[in-house]
Amino acid sequence: MPELLYPLDSTKKFTDQKLVGHNRWHPDIPPVATIAPGAEFRVHVREWFDGEIHNDDSAEDVRAAPLSTVHCLSGPFAVEGAEPGDLLIVDILEIGPIPQEDSGPLAGQGWGYTGIFPTDNGGGFLTEHFPDAYKAIWDFSGHTTSSRHISGVRFTGIMHPGLMGTAPSHELLTTWNTREAALIATDPQRVPPLALPPEPRDAVLGALIGADYDRVAAQAARTAPPRENGGNQDIKNLTRGSRVFYPVFVPGANLSVGDLHFSQGDGEITFCGAIEMGGFIDLRVDVIKNGMALYGVTENAVFQPGNEGPVYSEWLAFSGTSVTLDGEQRYLDSQLAFERACLHAIDYLSKFGYSREQAYLLLGAAPIEGRFSGVVDIPNSCATIYIPTAIFDFPITPTAGGPVRIDPGMGAPHATR
Ligand code: ZN
Repeated sequence: MPELLYPLDSTKKFTDQKLVGHNRWHPDIPPVATIAPGAEFRVHVREWFDGEIHNDDSAEDVRAAPLSTVHCLSGPFAVEGAEPGDLLIVDILEIGPIPQEDSGPLAGQGWGYTGIFPTDNGGGFLTEHFPDAYKAIWDFSGHTTSSRHISGVRFTGIMHPGLMGTAPSHELLTTWNTREAALIATDPQRVPPLALPPEPRDAVLGALIGADYDRVAAQAARTAPPRENGGNQDIKNLTRGSRVFYPVFVPGANLSVGDLHFSQGDGEITFCGAIEMGGFIDLRVDVIKNGMALYGVTENAVFQPGNEGPVYSEWLAFSGTSVTLDGEQRYLDSQLAFERACLHAIDYLSKFGYSREQAYLLLGAAPIEGRFSGVVDIPNSCATIYIPTAIFDFPITPTAGGPVRIDPGMGAPHATR
């Protein structure tokens, strides 16, 4: 086992750990450890909400989830010799839930969750259609998972970190805050908001204290969006065996990781659409000197996805085009086309006895593939989502006999706003 450089005690809160991580991006958050190029190391990772979401049959915790506390990130880890302009190589060697023997009362020990976040607390891709809070608990059995809240499905996990990245420079941080503030200013009262400005409340900034804490808390960027440093990209293909190349913006690179997922569909459409878990990840780091200029990698990370994961060969795919539900024609709006493809799949799955919320939760959590199939055929872009048929324990392709009705079981817990 690689050396454990960032241990967590599952029975303690994120801020009460021996090494305190962070939940904002800022160049002045001090590293928790320094690593030599080529070294392998293990990192424990809290699930993104620090244990606020419980293994029960209520969605009250999702409705009231404290968004100012996310994401709980492990790190930063400084890499010896890394300088701005370099590329940081990060190999994902191993990843998994926290082993059972470490178990505490928090998420990540044999189970995870998917949530539909309500419109006034995060929202989601289809929030206009799903304004209330719902959740599904997923139980892990080895590498497969199933849910008492969504009957008739079982699938293999495709474990990956939802969030990993390097620290921004002061200059890059200013760029982020400036451009996101300009977007917010176009509609400051919007619910959900267009972007999230710096939020000192609940900021966790590693070992910073006093005036340094106050200064950094006021400037530090929220972790929700992916940006030039990688960040919350939610790419389900960053599995074991992946190699990621991150731009380096500060001396040491200051790599952080969090938001482990047991599984996720492309798009993570319910907002907390993945199966969120606490766990561990083993990493190896190295540096390509001056790699940003050598390869022109300045906009964001590039990566080689891992070559393992569930292998599905049969799919049922749903398409959508850039026409609104009211019949209005839009011009090559791929976001709308993807939305229509998802709604199309939800309508279809509900014919089998699922509630629309169960179907939505399933599309967020199961290993569905999402694609922009056509983006040039005016006026309609075409988006598609592919559902592996083998995850269902009943036939889901169309036949002359019509859909089999399944017993939806207890259904997904719900909380009204
Ligand atoms: Zn996540």
